[in-house]
Amino acid sequence: MTHTMERLSELKPGQTGLIVKILGHGAFRKRVMEMGFVKGRKVTAMLTAPLKDPVKYELMGYEVGLRRAEAALIEVVPVAADAEETAPSTPVSAQPPATTDLPAANASDEVAMRTHHITVALIGNPNCGKTSLFNAMTGSSEHVGNYSGVTVDAKAGTAHYGGYTFEMVDLPGTYSLASYSPEELYVRRYLRDETPDVIINVVDASNLERNLYLTTELIDTARSMVIALNMYDELHAQGTVLDYPLLGRMIGVPIVPTVAKQGKGLKELLETVIDVYEGRQSAVRHIHVPLGPEVEKAVSVLNHAIKDDGRIGHRESPRYLAIKLLEGDAETARYVTGKTGDEQLLAMRDRLAAGVEREMESDITEIIAAEKYGFISGALAETMVPGESAHQSRTDIIDTLVTNKLFGFPLFVLVMVTMFWLTFSVGQYPMDWIQSGVDALAGWMGDTMADGPLKDMIVDGIIGGVGGVIVFLPNILILYFCISFMEDSGYMARAAFIMDKVMHRLGLHGKSFIPLVMGFGCNVPAIMATRTIESHSSRLITILINPFMSCSARIPIYVLLAGAFFPEHATLVFSCMYFGGILVAVVTARMLRRFWFKKDETPFVMELPPYRMPTLRNSLKHMWDKGEQYLRKMGGIILLASIIVWALNYFPRPAADQPADQPQHSYLAMVGQAVNPVMEPLGFNWRSTVAAVAGVPAKEVVVSTLGVLYTGDEAVSDAALAQRLKAVGPDGHPGFTWASALAFMVFVLLYCPCIATLTAIYRETGSWRYLTFSVVYNTMVAWLLGFAVYQISLLFV
Ligand code: GDP
Ligand code: MG
Repeated sequence: MTHTMERLSELKPGQTGLIVKILGHGAFRKRVMEMGFVKGRKVTAMLTAPLKDPVKYELMGYEVGLRRAEAALIEVVPVAADAEETAPSTPVSAQPPATTDLPAANASDEVAMRTHHITVALIGNPNCGKTSLFNAMTGSSEHVGNYSGVTVDAKAGTAHYGGYTFEMVDLPGTYSLASYSPEELYVRRYLRDETPDVIINVVDASNLERNLYLTTELIDTARSMVIALNMYDELHAQGTVLDYPLLGRMIGVPIVPTVAKQGKGLKELLETVIDVYEGRQSAVRHIHVPLGPEVEKAVSVLNHAIKDDGRIGHRESPRYLAIKLLEGDAETARYVTGKTGDEQLLAMRDRLAAGVEREMESDITEIIAAEKYGFISGALAETMVPGESAHQSRTDIIDTLVTNKLFGFPLFVLVMVTMFWLTFSVGQYPMDWIQSGVDALAGWMGDTMADGPLKDMIVDGIIGGVGGVIVFLPNILILYFCISFMEDSGYMARAAFIMDKVMHRLGLHGKSFIPLVMGFGCNVPAIMATRTIESHSSRLITILINPFMSCSARIPIYVLLAGAFFPEHATLVFSCMYFGGILVAVVTARMLRRFWFKKDETPFVMELPPYRMPTLRNSLKHMWDKGEQYLRKMGGIILLASIIVWALNYFPRPAADQPADQPQHSYLAMVGQAVNPVMEPLGFNWRSTVAAVAGVPAKEVVVSTLGVLYTGDEAVSDAALAQRLKAVGPDGHPGFTWASALAFMVFVLLYCPCIATLTAIYRETGSWRYLTFSVVYNTMVAWLLGFAVYQISLLFV
């Protein structure tokens, strides 16, 4: 090359250059381009800050500050100050601008030439055919030489195709980007210091699982990349069928099959390299290989620290650096301390890694590797049908059964049924114990305390309200235990996999399934769990239908009403509620996909982590984490709401001569009676209306409100709440009939999500629109279906 080409950082104040290329990782390039540093544009160095950093540049008539380290990643061709810009789309044969200045005309040629000059690095496992590919593309006539100063060979050569010059480097074979072997270290330093324009990741098609591990690491580096699916002939010979275009779209890297030995697929490979370089390859998408919630949290903390620091992370993607740091990578640690001059990031790394290892009871490097292999397994499970000779690991053997066409689905149904059986039937026993404890406490308080408002508040308000809800703690803990067990063992991912086809029918993805199941526990963490869904519209739909998944706060309502009115068919009623919620969710999802969100075809990988026997300790811990939140809510919002509801019901005190009618005059009764006309078509009375309204802060409050509203009636004061609901009130009507109980359950299943869920929806979508939708749409659906259920039920009375 004639080297008038320089880096922007080398321009002296006053000097002007035309931008040729932006090097480095995706996030950096994107940011710099957003600032206006685009190929073909003119930029002038203005002045340097006192400490030589940052440097001020002028482009397009305004000034931008850039760090020297950043400017070093922008290639420019120095030109005269009055040279014209070359349009970014200028073809190879661009006419030199008609200026009299000679350098300007040359510069334009130079720009055209430099932009049609692509440096390419071949990276892959040993023996995957890199050298064969290199030789086939460059022709053996190209010069082959050792790089100086290193012990490993790296050959360089050039190829020409389609008006472009490819400067190719054949790097030593490596299984990963760890820094243990000299080969690995060499490849890493090459990537960082030479910043090739495009990486060709050569992959041995006959050994995809192992080869793709390196690919996941290269994805972390966020460089422009193409996969050469080499030894494609052997894949065929094995009888394996691979949907490589789909795989490419899933992982965001275009894949071109090649047979290097026979020179097949080279043209397509080079064309794809050009397309990627020019940013017009449709499969290119930057994805994150997910590392599981615990590791991701640590990565995110480090990632932000690196970005905030500003002295590192220009040459390599901050996410990649963060992952390498967490893996305890010595080379990265040296690089980071060298750049920052202190050990702050390393201390942070140690703290975060130790936290993850304590939580997961496993080595963080192993966790990361397992997650990456889980990602690969998932991607291959969806795109590859292995041939005869494929060997099977333990996980594969379990998976052939669990994800089997015939057995997979029944097994899945069995698991779900078992989960609900454990939750409700087995959970009944501890529930009864707690119930008798609460009753005993209320009785003891009633006996020992002096009569008066304080006693009424404690017995009716607090024990009646909070106690009515706390009895469901065992159900909730068991449900969470099952969910944690399924997540930790790896079965949940398989369940999502099995459900993938079904979810596709709804315009969703298998990944949406996990948040939906979690919704049976609580919609709030479930909505947060949608973060793993890469597709924006799928994620929004999953969030919006999640409140229809009957969360555990609604369990008390069903237990109470189904127990009271359908003691023989309680299980049936329960199932109807759960499936009814699912059905509404399904219909809503289909409608949203049809009328609101346009179709979206971005495929993404569902990770299939290896099976692990979860430790009892871990499952218990995850269960307790969630149970604790429930108890907190109990002590907070539910306690408060119970007291408020009790007070509104207690005051104003009736006059001494008419004690029997007392509730009819309370503030609460007034509110209930005011709203009730709207709810009457659903068979509601003022008490149930009040309970539903009181349930908006938290659904648990519905039962505690009923508990408060249905106490104090002398005739049935010692009967259980269920009995009191059926009793005929002072107005001559029973509180609930079976028809109105059914309508009530349907209504509270579907209506306005609780405050915590609404907050989560707002936080995760960042928009009032979706929050409003949830409130209005859900309440409307609840009313209509509650109305339908009540009116139909009346026909059977
Ligand atoms: P490197 O270690 O990645 O540089 O791989 P080499 O280029 O040295 O190739 C390793 C072996 O794989 C050699 O014996 C090649 O002949 C063979 N090979 C390379 N490409 C292909 C291919 O596409 N199909 C088949 N069947 N063999 C190949
Ligand atoms: Mg080689």
